[in-house]
Amino acid sequence: MSKKMAIIGGGPVGLYLSILLAKSGHYVSVFEKGTWPVDKVCGQGIMPSGVELLKTIGIEVNNEESFSFSGVRYIDGDNVIEGRLKRPGLGMDRKVLSSKLHQLALLDSKITLKDQSKVDELSLYDKAVSISTNNNFEVFDYVFICDGLNSTFRRKLDLEVKRKGEHRMGARVHFECEPWCDKVEVYWNNGVEAYVTPVGNHKIEIAFLWFEKSIEKGAYLEERLFNLFPELSNKVKGKTKLNDFKAYGPFNTVSMAMKKGPVFLVGDAYKFLDGITGEGISLGLKAATVIAKNFENFSFIHKLKIGLIYLNYAIWVKLALMLSRNLIFRKIIFKFANKFSSFFDYILIMNDVQWGSKNS
Ligand SMILES: Cc1cc2nc3c(=O)[nH]c(=O)nc-3n(C[C@H](O)[C@H](O)[C@H](O)COP(=O)(O)OP(=O)(O)OC[C@H]3O[C@@H](n4cnc5c(N)ncnc54)[C@H](O)[C@@H]3O)c2cc1C
Repeated sequence: MSKKMAIIGGGPVGLYLSILLAKSGHYVSVFEKGTWPVDKVCGQGIMPSGVELLKTIGIEVNNEESFSFSGVRYIDGDNVIEGRLKRPGLGMDRKVLSSKLHQLALLDSKITLKDQSKVDELSLYDKAVSISTNNNFEVFDYVFICDGLNSTFRRKLDLEVKRKGEHRMGARVHFECEPWCDKVEVYWNNGVEAYVTPVGNHKIEIAFLWFEKSIEKGAYLEERLFNLFPELSNKVKGKTKLNDFKAYGPFNTVSMAMKKGPVFLVGDAYKFLDGITGEGISLGLKAATVIAKNFENFSFIHKLKIGLIYLNYAIWVKLALMLSRNLIFRKIIFKFANKFSSFFDYILIMNDVQWGSKNS
């Protein structure tokens, strides 16, 4: 029987979920506080598992608006190693991804898209949930919270947990230029990484991730970040910068549960640990796929499927952060990877497992 549902947050995960739910015959309202297309600080590289899921709902890919990358190249001074992906990943500007998902959702008459609709309150009843936006009050059978890293509703539902350890931050800026490499490049410095993701035949994005203590807060953040990577700075010298530098973070809160009664937390609202493994979007899409199919009879098995996907993510994030922080560990790994050329290929495959989240 078709249900009436609300999605709070029209980021990539919220929109993707709305399309899956509507395809199964449910009536879905998506509440987005901003206006589509919605921008966000992100590395903008989508791992192959995420690309596959986007294709199943009809997202089309072309080289003017996106870039199929073949792997990841890691650069630590003179040491360079590469990992090849089995299937291509996709570099796509966040606004392009948002626009494509929005266009698809518009085509489905079961989806009502409400922009400039910030949800203010949510109340849980036995078998229903009410939400209020701009003084309007509506009741739904299910609500899916997809309101991102700083989720208000995770806090309101008493599910927020602060993570221990050093906080991480992120930033991004775009350049208009031809990508010089068909892979995502990752430049390492102690505690700071720079990512170059081609997002089209004439556009790249540079994202930075760092431990909060590694970089002082304050003025000239962009210049100070680029100064840590002279080789990269030289590569973009003279290229047209789009002046959209934006920082974001810290990433230090998660949810202790993915469900409370008829309310589910999906995407970053559930968990985002770090951008270092380039997985946030794929993870959210995988979890959304499991939830869309099983929300009515959500059992231990479904929780386990999503739990394993996030456990795998947590392990690789931990290892990658060790690499970021520890120069000696990084040198050992780079040496090992240079000896065994397929070592990083396997790591990339292990990093991007699908585990029961195929949408077919
Ligand atoms: C520096 C950095 C680099 C990253 N690099 C990558 C990468 O290379 N690859 C990758 O896959 N992931 C990466 N990520 C992670 C990725 O950006 C996120 O995982 C992804 O955006 C999560 O999508 P989402 O839809 O869950 O949340 P979001 O994209 O944050 O969307 C949440 C939406 O909810 C809306 N909203 C919030 N509150 C309300 C409210 N009260 N009412 C209505 N609407 C509301 C917001 O306006 C927003 O549109 C990176 C993240 C960072 C910070």
